Order: sequence, then structure tokens, then C-alpha cells
Amino acid sequence: MKYETVIGLEIHCELKTSSKIFCSCKNEFGGEENEHTCPGCLGMPGILPVLNEKAVELAVRAGIALNCTIQRASQFDRKNYFYADLSKGYQISQYFHPICTDGWLDIPSDSGEQKRVRIARIHIEEDAGKIVHKNGMSYLDDNRSSLPLIEIVTMPDMRSPAEAERFARKARAILKAAGVSDCRMQEGSLRFDVNLSIMPQGSTVLGTRTEMKNLNSFRSLARAAENESARHQSVLEGGGSLFQETRRWDDEKGMSFGMRSKENAQDYRYFPDPDLTPIELDDAYIENIKLSMPELPEAKMQRYIGLGASEKDAEMLSEALEASELFEGAYAESGNAKLTASLITGDIAAKVRLDSLEGIKFTPSDLGRVVKMSEKGEISLSAARKTIAEMIEYGGSPDEIVKRLGLSQISDESAIRQIVSEVLEANPKSVADIKSGKSKAIGFIVGQAMKISKGAANPALVNRIIAEILEL
Ligand code: ADP
Ligand code: MG
Ligand code: ZN
Repeated sequence: MKYETVIGLEIHCELKTSSKIFCSCKNEFGGEENEHTCPGCLGMPGILPVLNEKAVELAVRAGIALNCTIQRASQFDRKNYFYADLSKGYQISQYFHPICTDGWLDIPSDSGEQKRVRIARIHIEEDAGKIVHKNGMSYLDDNRSSLPLIEIVTMPDMRSPAEAERFARKARAILKAAGVSDCRMQEGSLRFDVNLSIMPQGSTVLGTRTEMKNLNSFRSLARAAENESARHQSVLEGGGSLFQETRRWDDEKGMSFGMRSKENAQDYRYFPDPDLTPIELDDAYIENIKLSMPELPEAKMQRYIGLGASEKDAEMLSEALEASELFEGAYAESGNAKLTASLITGDIAAKVRLDSLEGIKFTPSDLGRVVKMSEKGEISLSAARKTIAEMIEYGGSPDEIVKRLGLSQISDESAIRQIVSEVLEANPKSVADIKSGKSKAIGFIVGQAMKISKGAANPALVNRIIAEILEL
């Protein structure tokens, strides 16, 4: 039988605030264990939570960016569970009345056309601590406890691991551009839970789903989903049956393992948190946030195309916030969007990741300067690329690099005229060929002149001077 895979994602995204959600401890990755803690986020009894207003603003921004309805009233609930990563014994979340509902995001489907993935809800919650296992002991590091999170829950609208990956990538680009989160997956600020089931092709009745939690790369998301889909199929085809459970994906082994049967909402004994008042937003507040939204990837892409970048380059740049910032700064200097964009998506992307540009040692205006030099004919395009390679590797000012590596193009007419005359004199046969209309011979003369100048002559000038001397 042919099966169809059904996927719904839950995305946990840490909000870019300066402090935690209910206390004034720092929201900062790293640090000594338990450095960023206080009695509040350590779960001591008798401490009252105070809501960080910035977290609400960022959740609303996420909702706007993901086409949600922003709820005028929402509320925090306690999700009770007994687990060592949460000293309070409950997590403050929003269960009954989430802040955003009914959103969507369009992605390219596997068959090529756009498809809409519905977003059921976005709610605000606090993160839990991290259990550290070392020296045969387990310790609790509460630096992460009470960091502000949003959880984005999609409807089961994706039909393959590739679609799920596309959705995840697009959501990340949007959340970053909207300033909601830094979305650093290696630091856990963006994590995906994959809910997956399979059903006979063409059916509309969803099968039993399993859930894999905390996938923190696009690759592991896609692999975990591929693997789980195949596992479902082999269980069903072997005559077995699936049950709703939470599984752990082991990226190294390339396998998932059952963890626990799925808990139900009742298991968590949700109830409204009596320590926090409901969040009430008025229209002016929401309108203000709408007006102050940063430009999102789709609008950015259109703008870059308008500036002259190719569609593909514009798409790549608009989806990588850091690269788009590099592009804008460089373009301001160079005035040539097409070349600036293609150098970033080509030469630079080959060496550094566009969505972090980690470790680059040059400024946007350095890059703009290189593009400008190439535009003005001071250096050739290949010299521009050499300069960029050098800047990526060692940093340094473009003018200095061009000088040091002897890359500047000879645009001095008299110097080129001298070289061209020499070449013409040494090749009377080619000159005769050119004069009798064999234009191919011009190429030979240009090549010789370039060779003598060690590639430094401006080829356009060489061509012009040949034509002048031979009166073509
Ligand atoms: P819970 O809160 O218990 O995890 P939800 O109903 O909120 O349950 O669903 C969680 C996620 O599971 C959602 O992303 C949803 O789209 C997805 N989901 C629900 N049913 C299925 C199914 N049969 N197959 C795949 N995904 C599903
Ligand atoms: Mg879930
Ligand atoms: Zn604290």
C-alpha cells in the first residue's frame, strides 16, 4: 500500500529579551552553571512572578509575522509535572487562552506550488532548566529556567519531511527578521518537535501519531521524520499497531527510541496561574507593534529584486538576516546590487555560513569598496574575487590587499598603448589577418597583451586601443 506522511510541528523559540520572563535574571546563553539565577527562577516557594513586558511584545510580533489573530485577552496557566528540570513542580505556560491563534505560512509544496500550512496557536511560556550529567552524578543548571519562550503549534498540514524542513527554515528566517529571537539552534534557542503519522494515500483519516522532541537542526529534523515515517510503515505492514508516544531521536545512531507513552492534557492538571493577572492588550498597543515591525523576508526579497539583484540571490539574502545586513551595507557603498549580491551568495557563501557570517573580518563597506573598484575598472572581476577571498581569510582593507597582491588593473592608457604596440609589431601576421577581416585574430592580440601585463591590463581598454591603432 502507498502511504502519505502527515506532520505537525511544535516550535520552541527563545525570545530575545534582556532578562528572564518572570524575574530580573539575565537572559544570556552560557555563563557559569547557575550564574543567572535568583530565588524566583530557582523555584523557591513564596516568590511571585512579574511578567516581562518585552516578552509579550515579541510574542505579538511573532504572531503578526506569522499571520495570526492577536488575542485581546490571554492568560497564564500552570502545567504541572514532576520532573527534575523544573524545581517549582510546574511550568508557567498558556493553555486555555494563548496569545495568538489561527495563523499560517505559505511554503512550496513537494509538487511545486505554494501551499498553506495553518498555525493553530502561539503561546508564551517559560523554559525549564538543564540537567547536566557528569562524574556519575546529575546536576541541575537553572540558567535556562524561566527564559521566555514562545511555542508555535502548526496544524498537521505538512505531507513530507521535506515540507516540514521547508516550513521550519522559513519560520526561522521570519522569526529572526522580526527580531523575535536570535534562533541559534546550536544554543537551543530554536527547537523543533516533530509529530508524525502516516495514512493510506488519498485517505483523510489521520493515523496514530508519535512525537520526537527537541530536534535542533534542520538536518536532524528531516532525518528523524524520514526515519519515523519508515518505521511507522514497517510496523503497519508487519501487522503491528502504533500507539501514541514520545520518542527520542538519536542523531548519531540515526534511530529513535521510545521514551514514554504520550501524556494527555489531564495529566498536566492545567489551571489558571493565580499569581499572574490575565494579559489584556488594546488595539492601539497591537497597532503600534504592527507599525514598528521590521521588514520581513518576502518584502525584502522583492526590494532586492527591485534594486537589481537576481531572484535567486535576492531570495538567499532575504532569508539570512546577517547576509542581508552585509548586502545592504555593501550596496550602500557600491551602488551595484547585482554584483554585490552575487559575490555574497557565491564567493562568500562558499566560505562562511550566510545565516551567521561567523568570524568574518571585514565590514560591509569593505565589500562595497571591492565591488566599486571592480565597477570602475580599477581591478578585474577575478581580482575582486581574490581580494574578497583574502578579506575572508585575513581581514584587512581592500585597497591595501589590492596593492599588496599587485591586483590593480592597468587603466593607464599610455602604458597599455605601449604594450599593445609591442604586441602588434611582434605579430605582423595577426595584424594582416585582422585587417583582412578575421576578427578572431584580435583575441590573440588581446591575449598576448594581457599576458605581458600579467593579467593587469584592463581588457576593455586593450580592445579599444587595438581598434584605434589599426584604425578598425
Ligand atoms: P499535544 O498538545 O498533546 O502535543 P496537539 O493536539 O496540540 O497535542 O498537537 C500537537 C501537534 O501534533 C500539532 O502540531 C498537530 O498538528 C500535530 N498532530 C496532531 N495529530 C497529528 C497526526 N495524526 N499526525 C501528525 N501530526 C499530528
Ligand atoms: Mg506536543
Ligand atoms: Zn531569576
